Amino acid sequence: MENKDTHETKLPVRSTGTSITKNGTQVAKTTTELPDKFRISDIKCRELIAKATEMLNFSYTPYSHFKVGAALLTKGGKIYGGCNIENAAYGPTNCAERTAFFKAVSEGELEFAAIAIVGGANGKIRDFCPPCGVCRQVMREFCDPESFYVILARSEADYWVYTLEELLPMSFGPENL
Ligand SMILES: [Zn+2]
Repeated sequence: MENKDTHETKLPVRSTGTSITKNGTQVAKTTTELPDKFRISDIKCRELIAKATEMLNFSYTPYSHFKVGAALLTKGGKIYGGCNIENAAYGPTNCAERTAFFKAVSEGELEFAAIAIVGGANGKIRDFCPPCGVCRQVMREFCDPESFYVILARSEADYWVYTLEELLPMSFGPENL
């Protein structure tokens, strides 16, 4: 789903391959330049983005019409898809990212490597779709902030990879209790 729009964005834009940023600066152009725990392949990123995009078809959004799809990769290599699911009472609405996490956790998965997220009004991807604060906190419950990747994509060839630590610095997690 290549997008020809020249939409203004504050997020970094890139064309192909995988880049890793640390505290807002790019530390490597490809994951092969990184220590083992930071590696994720371009092909795996594209696979996750494809699955997240497919999940847009199941997004239930009769109210906002803003559709989001996610694909969560376990450390064992399984992929769980998720979509946002709205509710007439608004409050019970669930995000795509949490749908994917709760599906996986409910099936016994507790170790995760990465999540890809795509979304846009009426299911058309025009820009990056960053996770909300609630979803970032749910990720923090199950994932190592330094080595869990959040892949934000506009297409399979146009994506950016962040660590959870970058998206949720100074976070509160299970070890703080
Ligand atoms: Zn969310």
